[in-house]
Amino acid sequence: MSILIGPMKLHLHGHKELTNHSEVRDIQAGERVYIPLMACTDILVKVGEQVKKGTVIAKRNDHFVVPIFASVSGTVEGVEELEHATGRVIEHLVIKNDGQYTFEAPFAPLDADKASVEELVSFMMNAGIVGCGGAGFPSYVKYKGAKDVHTLVINAVECEPYITADYRIIDDQLEKLILGTKTMLKMSGAKEALIAIKKTKKDLIAKVEAGIKGHEGLKVKEVPDQYPMGWERTLIYEIFKKRYDKLPGEIGVIVNNATTAIAFADALLEGRPIMDKICTISGDGVKEPTNVRVPVGVPVKEVVEQIGGYSAEEVTIIGGGPMMGKAATTDDVVITTSSNAITILKPQPVETIACLRCGRCNDHCPAGILPVRINNAEEAKDVKLLAKLRADQCIECGMCTYVCPSKIEVTEGVRRGKALLRASSARK
Ligand code: SF4
Ligand code: SF4
Repeated sequence: MSILIGPMKLHLHGHKELTNHSEVRDIQAGERVYIPLMACTDILVKVGEQVKKGTVIAKRNDHFVVPIFASVSGTVEGVEELEHATGRVIEHLVIKNDGQYTFEAPFAPLDADKASVEELVSFMMNAGIVGCGGAGFPSYVKYKGAKDVHTLVINAVECEPYITADYRIIDDQLEKLILGTKTMLKMSGAKEALIAIKKTKKDLIAKVEAGIKGHEGLKVKEVPDQYPMGWERTLIYEIFKKRYDKLPGEIGVIVNNATTAIAFADALLEGRPIMDKICTISGDGVKEPTNVRVPVGVPVKEVVEQIGGYSAEEVTIIGGGPMMGKAATTDDVVITTSSNAITILKPQPVETIACLRCGRCNDHCPAGILPVRINNAEEAKDVKLLAKLRADQCIECGMCTYVCPSKIEVTEGVRRGKALLRASSARK
């Protein structure tokens, strides 16, 4: 066992009231969209080529198969290096938007009841279904050859402050959540699917419970309103009181996000891949926090312009929620297939003082590692010590910074430590 689950989970102020009840506003793509191309991607279109919304424009060519689709119709202009929501600079395919949004279904819908498990797995792969909860992991990998799975967990916890997009989508598209969940249950071979929702979300729980009545094997699992309950390991420990080394499959569990199940249902019903995202744009840095539906590849600045603009001259833009998200250096970063939120905050003056050696960061780390020691090892560039302290196990939950009375950016230090460790392993 290489990872421990630390004891700590906290109830955080959610700020969810800012967007909880907001309607989903439709955002129009501007003159161009910029579709992120992760490493190891073959581009399948040429400069000057006309594409439709839904055209396969690129494909991952490493050990995963993930097609990438155009989110607007228009003309391919080329490739540009831009900052990505992960903080890295990567290539983006530029499409000049013709404003027509002409759709071309890249694959035919599929009747999930009639299809075999193998057909469904291959459909999921060709539909490019990736984790919509932030990580963007290709979903078909979890089901391909799945065996001895007893439970499918549908993660609808949404524990990060400010984010309400998942709840909005579930509330609006419950039928699709049910279809996606039932189909994933069939693919997993498990007996039951637990839809995990925070117990404080009484209205949503009642609605989902009513919706799943009569659907064999589907149940709601209420979980505490704590952070980071949506982290896979915390969630699994909460439900099964079990730990695992690398993947939940080791203990017979598959986990998928609720919005991934809904995206899968869209593909099954309509032959639609993920081309638009519903995201929460929230925080005190925007005048009108709201949930939006936005084509993949639209820069954040264009989204903010369309919802009323920033509320301050200077703001901090975070891809994701304030705990796990990554700060961007520009609002040119675009909405990706796994974006679920952009948090925009006014900068707060922070006075950092020296470490008090109080140990709070260590006590609160849900991964059970020692953030302050990792921070020190990073400052000393001591790669051996970083490896020994298992810096790689950090899930970047932000808890160590949140609890630090000295206002030290502990998480950033640990992130740098992880990167140092990765770079050193890559060199070897
Ligand atoms: S961000 Fe900090 S608290 Fe969270 S897992 Fe990493 S080291 Fe632990
Ligand atoms: S919580 Fe902050 S002050 Fe306390 S040990 Fe960790 S880094 Fe130091």
